[in-house]
Amino acid sequence: MSKQRIAILGGGESGVGAALLAKAKGFEVFVSDGAKLQPKYEQELQDNLIDFEAEKHTEDLILSAVEIIKSPGIPDDAPIVKKAIEKGISVVSEIEFARRYTQAKIIAITGSNGKTTTTLLTYHLLKSAGFHVGMAGNVGNSFAREVLRTSYDYWVLEVSSFQLDNCYEFKPDVAVILNITPDHMDRYAYNFQNYVDAKFRILQKGDAEQVFIYFKDDATLSLELKHRTLPQKHLPISLQEATETGAYCLGKELHFRLKNGLTLHIAPEDVQLKGKHNQINVMASVLACLEVGANPDNLREYFKTFKGVEHRLEEVAVINHIKFINDSKATNVDSVFYALDSFDEKIVWIAGGVDKGNDYEKIYALVKQKVKYLVCLGIDNDKLFNYFREIVKIVVQTDNIKDAVEQAYEFARDGDIVLLSPACASFDLFQNYEDRGNQFKKAVGKLSKLDGVKRD
Ligand code: ADP
Repeated sequence: MSKQRIAILGGGESGVGAALLAKAKGFEVFVSDGAKLQPKYEQELQDNLIDFEAEKHTEDLILSAVEIIKSPGIPDDAPIVKKAIEKGISVVSEIEFARRYTQAKIIAITGSNGKTTTTLLTYHLLKSAGFHVGMAGNVGNSFAREVLRTSYDYWVLEVSSFQLDNCYEFKPDVAVILNITPDHMDRYAYNFQNYVDAKFRILQKGDAEQVFIYFKDDATLSLELKHRTLPQKHLPISLQEATETGAYCLGKELHFRLKNGLTLHIAPEDVQLKGKHNQINVMASVLACLEVGANPDNLREYFKTFKGVEHRLEEVAVINHIKFINDSKATNVDSVFYALDSFDEKIVWIAGGVDKGNDYEKIYALVKQKVKYLVCLGIDNDKLFNYFREIVKIVVQTDNIKDAVEQAYEFARDGDIVLLSPACASFDLFQNYEDRGNQFKKAVGKLSKLDGVKRD
């Protein structure tokens, strides 16, 4: 009998991971990418004798497949995807495909912000607790690649809305939604509800056993949950009120309701992560760990070895009593809100880049209260500049990181924070947010020779 054919759209980490897994499972595999492949992925496909094409989609080779695995970067309205759907070919995401080949318990984490932090922390806590656990998805390697490599008993997966879009049977044992705020509207026909629905696909196959952890104070989540049936096992998280189950924090300690009626307390000082947003992430992580059976008595200890996540409120240096913080991953307004809220000090704020349709109203009051100077960093700074020049003492424009950092340092005084938290995507001036964060750190590094040198 001839082999069944699987076509994979996209030859990045997710597509190549899916290709390797599909090949190992006995399919005939064809990878097609409308753009160029990165050399390392091209090499990997060649080494594994997997057919592929770049910079085109040959319809005959794709539409003859029994199933298509679509990489998250490809929208549903791409012509080739539309044709496949019209022909009745099943189009699934790599997460959906990989799940078919593991029986492990899955913790899946989604949200507009905080996915990576919560995923890394959950993985760290479970690994420290001795669980045989892997991590994959939107962070690190693709799930498919990892499923092929190792058979863990537990997986912690970061899942984006794009990955959930083509999930149909995927049912995580523990599903986490951290928040839902407008993002990626261009992929959802500028209809926020479409994006909300994508996030909620994480619950679509939920049964009585599935545990749902969610931040109940989030405006969208709370509204949405009024129209939906809450899974039987749901654990809310709140920063506003003491919850009867789940977890909450009303200022000081983080409280967790345990199944035996007892409470676990964790003090913010025990956690290396700053800011209210991270309290939410920590509560979600700890609840997920408790749900899969981690011992509550030891969890506190494991935080000591978690060092935070690069490019997310990362402390870079202190130069002449001025602290430099890299929050390059803050590519939307909501994450900047939490960044500004995390500091009591006055802030010299570096922001800008490619605006994805930002509404700055949410941070207006915080900026007014805390930001002394705004250094705009981007090719087109007009929107940011015009919005804030009324309320910030000095607003300047720059178009390279060196000038931005130097200007910020000039403006800052003893005890101030220089915060790179852009609210925008990075690709006008940088390859990606990591490149932006790394260049920021390099520019700050160059200033460090000034530490101890008296300023005028
Ligand atoms: P994601 O993977 O969802 O993009 P990250 O953990 O990488 O999330 O964090 C992205 C940005 O959002 C960072 O600037 C971070 O400080 C901020 N952030 C992290 N957690 C939250 C949260 N729960 N709510 C709002 N913003 C958050």
